[in-house]
Amino acid sequence: MDTIDERSVTIQPLHKDWYGSKIAAVDMLRLDLVHSVVSGNKWYKLRLNIHEAVERGYKAILTFGGGYSNHLVATAFAAKLHGLKSIGIVRGRHDELTPTLQQCIGYGMELIFVTHDDYKNKDQPDWARTLVSHFDELLIIPEGGANGWGRKGAGLITRFISPGYTHVVLSVGTGTTFAGIRNNLPTYQQMLGFVPMKQGTYLSEHINPYLSTDANRNWQLTDDWHFGGFGKWNESLLLFMNGFYQMNNIPLDIIYTSKMMYGLQQMIANDSFNAADRILCIHSGGLQGNSSVAKWLNY
Ligand SMILES: *Cc1c(COP(=O)(O)O)cnc(C)c1O
Repeated sequence: MDTIDERSVTIQPLHKDWYGSKIAAVDMLRLDLVHSVVSGNKWYKLRLNIHEAVERGYKAILTFGGGYSNHLVATAFAAKLHGLKSIGIVRGRHDELTPTLQQCIGYGMELIFVTHDDYKNKDQPDWARTLVSHFDELLIIPEGGANGWGRKGAGLITRFISPGYTHVVLSVGTGTTFAGIRNNLPTYQQMLGFVPMKQGTYLSEHINPYLSTDANRNWQLTDDWHFGGFGKWNESLLLFMNGFYQMNNIPLDIIYTSKMMYGLQQMIANDSFNAADRILCIHSGGLQGNSSVAKWLNY
């Protein structure tokens, strides 16, 4: 089995024609290159959790997600790599398995399907106990890796962010990665989070409580580019992804990073930045989720 290797991460400048003359530089941190399955931010959110599981002698990891969850498949892979079993509690019945769930099974994850209603109980301490045996041998990681180790691990991403950037831009799902980075990044560097869902800025409530007092400045979320909601897309998004790839040779994912880059380009055009600003966009991965649209993509 191949390994997860941080040394493959690069910072790639975008083509100047993509952002024009209204801003000094736009670069992309290619966390998607960490690994093709455990892509991007998922590895950072998992790594300290996995370390904890191994150190404490747990035998398995249990976590949660929907049928298209990048977190679920990343956990399956990372657990296997570290000699741990993995159990995924899946939201919904899925009589037909999604490609993501098939991949999870391929990496040895045991899947337990629960109804949407039952899934709502997932954060109650004893609920998972009713579903699995040998409960005490399991380390439980919340959905999206949203715990203290997840945030701390995400904070390690700042090692790639040099002081010359005025802005750091990333896509937000649970806000775990965002909070981890904000806590670990000098506050003069602005953070801008793109939420790919309708009314997504409520997620600031999931970020705020986890920020240290010092770090709780110079950040904001926008949900203006949700394209109809989480997982929704249209033809202009596909066209954008193909154009972005053609110009920059960087594949974006349909759920998160494409909407972020689409929105960012519009914000640059609308004079939301100063001409001297230097932006670092974080490519958080998620490319395995493109299988449903692969036939329309030129990569
Ligand atoms: C999971 C994911 C995110 C969201 O990360 P959070 O820490 O949950 O906010 C962003 N981008 C991609 C590609 C992802 O897979």
